[in-house]
Amino acid sequence: MIRKPKNSEKAFEEAVKYIPGGVNSPVRAFKSVGGTPRFIKRAKGAYLTDEDNNRYIDLIGSWGPMILGHAFAPVENAVRKAIRSSFSFGAPTVKEVEMARLITDLMPSVEMVRMVNSGTEATMSAIRLARAYTGRNKIIKFEGCYHGHGDAFLISAGSGALSLGVPDSPGITPSTLQDTLTAPYNNLEAVKALVNSHKGQIAALIIEPVVGNMGCVLPADGYLQALRDICTQEGILYIFDEVMTGFRLAPGGAQERFGIQPDLTTLGKIIGGGMPVGAYGGKKEIMQMVAPSGPMYQAGTLSGNPIAMSAGLAMLKHLKKHPEVYEQLEETGQYIAEGLRKSVAELGLGYTVNQVGSMYSLFFTPEKVIDYTTAKTADTAKFGKYFHGMLQRGVYLAPSQFESLFLSAKIDRKLANKILRASHDTLASLAED
Ligand SMILES: *Cc1c(COP(=O)(O)O)cnc(C)c1O
Repeated sequence: MIRKPKNSEKAFEEAVKYIPGGVNSPVRAFKSVGGTPRFIKRAKGAYLTDEDNNRYIDLIGSWGPMILGHAFAPVENAVRKAIRSSFSFGAPTVKEVEMARLITDLMPSVEMVRMVNSGTEATMSAIRLARAYTGRNKIIKFEGCYHGHGDAFLISAGSGALSLGVPDSPGITPSTLQDTLTAPYNNLEAVKALVNSHKGQIAALIIEPVVGNMGCVLPADGYLQALRDICTQEGILYIFDEVMTGFRLAPGGAQERFGIQPDLTTLGKIIGGGMPVGAYGGKKEIMQMVAPSGPMYQAGTLSGNPIAMSAGLAMLKHLKKHPEVYEQLEETGQYIAEGLRKSVAELGLGYTVNQVGSMYSLFFTPEKVIDYTTAKTADTAKFGKYFHGMLQRGVYLAPSQFESLFLSAKIDRKLANKILRASHDTLASLAED
């Protein structure tokens, strides 16, 4: 039984007085689904507990990091141990070296890496580096791909921006707009056309190798490799934004799963084990342009701080040592996707399920969802009702149609069945409306 969220409602009433929209990141608000966001007081394993003591199966996992479930003991212990030695020194530590070595080991395309504090910082820095390295100004990004809130990326940005209906934020200068070229995802001709009409001007092409930020959208067969070939031919740096997919779709991320070698990679989320961390890395020749070994300036007071490094290291070491986690996540992901497809068919609803590994989305549209345009055919009002039906049944989904859901290793067969049952009952009740 889920109780009325009285304490969350009270907290939200206070929150909106002092915090814009009552939240510190727009995706947390329930703006696109209606209602009051739940205020969470703790989480353990597969479950979140809110301020009214309601317990939910968590399918957000802090938007990705909690791949092993909440308060995972090795991560918790590593953090406990680290805080005894103070929280930050502003001087190098051996943990940073260990982290860098581990990342380069897990992701062979990353020969050198710089730690930062968020995915946004990672992508902003990677773009600056690409511009510095190539001496060119323009970048190509894809409609519906989100790369953090850096100015250059807030153009057709997906997820939060998509849900709120402000794909182009005010405050972005015309010159920034001019330097960001956009193409539809999974469309090769559009990229070729952009490259041909801007010969020698494009520094980088940045992509989510599997998109999470317009809902889960997979790259078409051969698409990522075709982009690799264009970039190589044209001297464009190929940047994989693996903030979401890194260490999630395989120990070596989407690039391992699809067998692609990007020039630069951006990381975040899982790499911090729940602490605020990001990283960018790639070919040595390019990374050596970063200060102080080169002229491209990028810095950070708390970058590589020992608490975040300890959490991330414990997480990555566990994942490296237990590759069977990925098999389990794959199995659970497929099981849920198949269950949803069966349920949807049984109820005579033509909805679409996209899934890869532990990422999936149920789109409220009969269209095959392959890009931003097809994602937007989804019935968001219906999704809002589905979201609340699921919440009422104790399953916490991302409060937007345009987000991927994330499974953790703590979702076993029993919980997967619970999720499927809740979904089937919710869809059935919506069909009666
Ligand atoms: C979450 C995300 C980011 C931004 O990371 P923050 O830590 O929120 O700044 C960038 N790129 C992708 C693909 C993401 O999913």
